[in-house]
Amino acid sequence: CGKNSNHVKPRILLMGLRRSGKSSIQKVVFHKMSPNETLFLESTNKICREDVSSSSFVSFQIWDFPGQIDFFDPTFDYEMIFRGTGALIFVIDSQDDYVEALSRLHLTVTRAYKVNPDINFEVFIHKVDGLSDDHKIEKQRDIHKRANDDLADAGLERIHLSFYLTSIYDHSIFEAFSKVVQKLIPQLPTLENLLNIFISNSGIEKAFLFDVVSKIYIATDSSPVDMQTYELCCDMIDVVIDISCIYGEGGLPYDKESMAIIHLNNTTVMYLKEVTKFLAVVCFLRKESFERKGLIDYNFHCFKNAIQEVFDVRVKVQQNRKLLSQR
Ligand code: GDP
Repeated sequence: CGKNSNHVKPRILLMGLRRSGKSSIQKVVFHKMSPNETLFLESTNKICREDVSSSSFVSFQIWDFPGQIDFFDPTFDYEMIFRGTGALIFVIDSQDDYVEALSRLHLTVTRAYKVNPDINFEVFIHKVDGLSDDHKIEKQRDIHKRANDDLADAGLERIHLSFYLTSIYDHSIFEAFSKVVQKLIPQLPTLENLLNIFISNSGIEKAFLFDVVSKIYIATDSSPVDMQTYELCCDMIDVVIDISCIYGEGGLPYDKESMAIIHLNNTTVMYLKEVTKFLAVVCFLRKESFERKGLIDYNFHCFKNAIQEVFDVRVKVQQNRKLLSQR
């Protein structure tokens, strides 16, 4: 994955008022910080905090509001940034008054849409850990209504906003990020199809394709996702990476040889294997099925080759487009 892979990474902007939780989200999702530690994060005053992560399948940037981004500042080329963005996540602190946040959301979305109407607009109604279930639904309804009313008033009903209830204190932030990233992967149906073929030929019950660093799942087979299963996968990735970091002999904690098997007491086996530099598959299967590990490994080998082809084709298409546009 040389330089070219940067062109094909889903690119995400994380925006919102100061203290809405952007740095915390970044630290928890991409840097394994524990949620409690975010209490001590210091606010930065830089205009644009950039973190194009070289170790993840996803690349993204953080922008702070208010006062920090002035759309009228001619030296700040927000147009170029919006043009290269796949998804814009706007974080709203649900525990705070959100009038100012909503007006910033409106301004940002309308500006970004003018530059690039293909951006996906994703609103994270964040810090919902402090709210009761009823309260959460109520907040979501209210924010949804106000944001869409503002767009309708401006004659921009065609802009679609998606809403998610998130918190860094549970898996909701990873789940929301997974959905955002999945929308940016044009080959998602192909990946799902490959996972379906892989599991049905191997006696596997459920399989996820994970970005190892962020624990975002970029695809799964078409059976329904159960939150608990997803959480177990996240825990397994943490265990594998932690053990490799602590006891591994030099080198990277995740590489071509990475694999792990965990037998759960309820006769289920979890099986993790490396797919690419960034991705791993985590599978759930019954103990009986795991007895045919040779078959599973053979099918996995075919699956892995197919995945690599899917992403190689994508890089080639991008390169060709670039060459054409340079002519
Ligand atoms: P930023 O200015 O948008 O980058 O905001 P920070 O990431 O610095 O977060 C501001 C405060 O919100 C910190 O004290 C975090 O601990 C807290 N915070 C972030 N996310 C959550 C969350 O999901 N729930 C709760 N209760 N607090 C959060």
